[in-house]
Amino acid sequence: MSIETITTVDELRAALDTRQAAGDRIGFVPTMGFLHDGHASLMQRARADNDLVVASIFVNPLQFAADEDLDDYPRDLAADRSLAERVGVDVLFVPSTAEMYPRPMATTVTVPDLASRWEGATRPTHFAGVATVVTKLFGIVGPCRAYFGEKDFQQLCIIRRLVEDLSIPVEVVGCPIIREPDGLARSSRNVYLTPAERTAAPVLRRALDEGLERISQGERNPALVMEAMAAVVAAEPLAHLDYVAAIDASTLEVPPQLNGTVRLMLAVKIGRPRLIDNDGITIEAKP
Ligand code: AMP
Repeated sequence: MSIETITTVDELRAALDTRQAAGDRIGFVPTMGFLHDGHASLMQRARADNDLVVASIFVNPLQFAADEDLDDYPRDLAADRSLAERVGVDVLFVPSTAEMYPRPMATTVTVPDLASRWEGATRPTHFAGVATVVTKLFGIVGPCRAYFGEKDFQQLCIIRRLVEDLSIPVEVVGCPIIREPDGLARSSRNVYLTPAERTAAPVLRRALDEGLERISQGERNPALVMEAMAAVVAAEPLAHLDYVAAIDASTLEVPPQLNGTVRLMLAVKIGRPRLIDNDGITIEAKP
């Protein structure tokens, strides 16, 4: 069956009502388009787990600050449609901004405890925009499994939390980060990198590896792990560090001592794009 493109909320609801009434399991993959292998991995997982796969493409203005790249966020609907079709997406939901926001939103969803730090410190309005559009998309799609990448680890934590807090009937599935062979995490924004910047960009992966290595060698002081990661970034002249974090994966806070499920995260500006990456490690408690 070829992929169906739907642009209105009413049409999507009508298409899903019948399938949900028939007991079909719906897999949902929200994206901003300019699809790559990272998005494809989410769609493939949704295909494997469900009867019907819906992916959305919506560059959500609410999650971009005035000085960010909303207007020149990369777009290519024809290529997106063929990638989505190739990996077995049944329905592509591509609403316009007017369809999603027919009038200014009076409602905002926020998860301040998880959203204020890291990405939220640099992009103070970002996660409210994400949480609001994702809640709205869940309202439109209805009960489903929804697939998100660990690439946006803080976003994934926020979405899990809002689904739990608001009893939204959605099962959130986190999926591993897909990388280029040299370790750079796939991102729609990688197209902005010049060849020299692209060569420098695996510095994020190297910084994560350095942090993981320090922890594997027994380092438990988060400040020293962050310092080691920052030093890797500082050695790359084209890279400008925004933040590094060695945090407890459930609270997103820097603990006094690293223990249990730890996440290393960083954001680095390389030329025009600001790139983010992260990785996890579990520190077993000593018997
Ligand atoms: P975006 O289109 O950037 O909003 O991303 C849509 C979804 O794809 C989010 O859940 C992202 O976390 C996920 N995603 C983006 N890049 C990757 C990647 N390299 N690996 C896995 N998931 C990704």
